[in-house]
Amino acid sequence: MTEQHKRHVVVGTIAMSLIPSVLILEPPSAPTLKHVALYLSALIGYWGIVLMLWMYLLGTKSVTALIFRDLAPVLRVHKWLGIYAIPMIFLHPLLVGLSYGANLLTFSILPSIATQYDRHVLLGQIALWLLVIIWVSSAILRSKLAFRPWKYIHYLAYVSIPFALLHVPDLGSQSTTHVFVRGYLFVLMLTFFAICILRLRSILNLDKSTYTVARHIQITKAGDYVLIARPADGSRPLRAPRRGQYVYIKLGFLSEDHPFSVTQYDEDTGQLTLAYRLAGMYTKELAKLQVGQSVHLSGPYGSFTDDLAETDTTPVVYLAGGIGITPFVDRVMSENDIREQWLFAANRSRETAVLLPQLKKELGDRCVAIYSAEQVPAANEEHGYITSTLLGKYLSDPTKYRYYLCGPPPMMQACREALAELGVPPSQVRSETFGW
Ligand SMILES: Cc1cc2nc3c(=O)[nH]c(=O)nc-3n(C[C@H](O)[C@H](O)[C@H](O)COP(=O)(O)OP(=O)(O)OC[C@H]3O[C@@H](n4cnc5c(N)ncnc54)[C@H](O)[C@@H]3O)c2cc1C
Repeated sequence: MTEQHKRHVVVGTIAMSLIPSVLILEPPSAPTLKHVALYLSALIGYWGIVLMLWMYLLGTKSVTALIFRDLAPVLRVHKWLGIYAIPMIFLHPLLVGLSYGANLLTFSILPSIATQYDRHVLLGQIALWLLVIIWVSSAILRSKLAFRPWKYIHYLAYVSIPFALLHVPDLGSQSTTHVFVRGYLFVLMLTFFAICILRLRSILNLDKSTYTVARHIQITKAGDYVLIARPADGSRPLRAPRRGQYVYIKLGFLSEDHPFSVTQYDEDTGQLTLAYRLAGMYTKELAKLQVGQSVHLSGPYGSFTDDLAETDTTPVVYLAGGIGITPFVDRVMSENDIREQWLFAANRSRETAVLLPQLKKELGDRCVAIYSAEQVPAANEEHGYITSTLLGKYLSDPTKYRYYLCGPPPMMQACREALAELGVPPSQVRSETFGW
């Protein structure tokens, strides 16, 4: 089954998981506004909880990796649900307020802990406001927020889900009176606990393999490094990565884990080579790793260049920006790959052109270096950026190639536009983004 088919199956399963709420909840007893609003509020409330659980599950890579080869398409479903489906939950307090004739302020804003009922309402209010904060930060402010503040706000979802679940008993009009609804709520709670346990397994590194740093060197003054890691004695090595795949590295128990493409894999020793550029907090910590230290790896993930079977000889062009060259290294260096391969590598200067000398040796004239700040280019070097004119200068028939893009988002967008100008259909273009 292709990744796209699997994604369709997941989306279909999500849609089907909304059906039990419809079957279990008792329809309105009378066609009055009060009854209909109460029924809809319950339905939307349960749908909201189910969708939140799906988002939680789809954000758990140790689970999604069991089904998908790549995480990016799963995260796209997660993101889509978060932006377009979750706002539906905001209708829940409005409908409750409407059915009880209370105003919106009482049901969604003003806190009260006077009675048991009030305390349950308060749990729901907290869940709702946390969701509002997450939604605003992701759907409206994402491009304005730095990665980490956005990520930490996103973690509020872990608090919002239990609060949402706990506000239902003794409050949900149907869960108090219908045993099936109560049972259903219990199943949702169990699902939440099951996902928490899977998450805990990941936090405790039980789903990861331990590797030892065998070599770690700085390769440019600009802050680029090569890291070689081998499976630690007694630890189960990761599955052999396919070319162009990436692994997640975690530095310790409390560390974040970040993705890095595998530039080389040694089948005999299981040794992995990665190349990375200093970007922020995590890569600065990564750069401090000493030979002999342990790291926790998970993966491999990704399907970026999977459609390049070694038996097929479709000619290809790799368009790389900066450190975005890493997913192509193993392909270019492979002795088995006999297809026509071109590499256009865009960098600021020769100094920041990571791994290019080795790749130039392999590809010869089919390796073109483009420098935005290097004024005197040599043979097979260009000044400026990747444009349709530049590609047309080297490729006699640009439409016969399949293109693979990896680099900063503006560079990838410029490349897509250049390829469109050359008449290359989008179906011949694949891309990988270095960040979610
Ligand atoms: C599939 C994939 C393969 C990658 N391969 C390489 C590689 O071979 N070499 C390399 O130098 N870089 C690679 N990256 C990028 C690398 O993961 C980020 O540069 C690094 O995580 C930045 O973290 P930071 O804290 O140092 O920098 P920050 O400045 O905090 O982050 C910079 C940007 O990196 C992205 N990012 C941060 N944390 C994560 C995360 N946990 N998961 C996904 N994206 C994140 C965000 O878009 C963020 O805006 C890859 C990214 C992806 C998604």
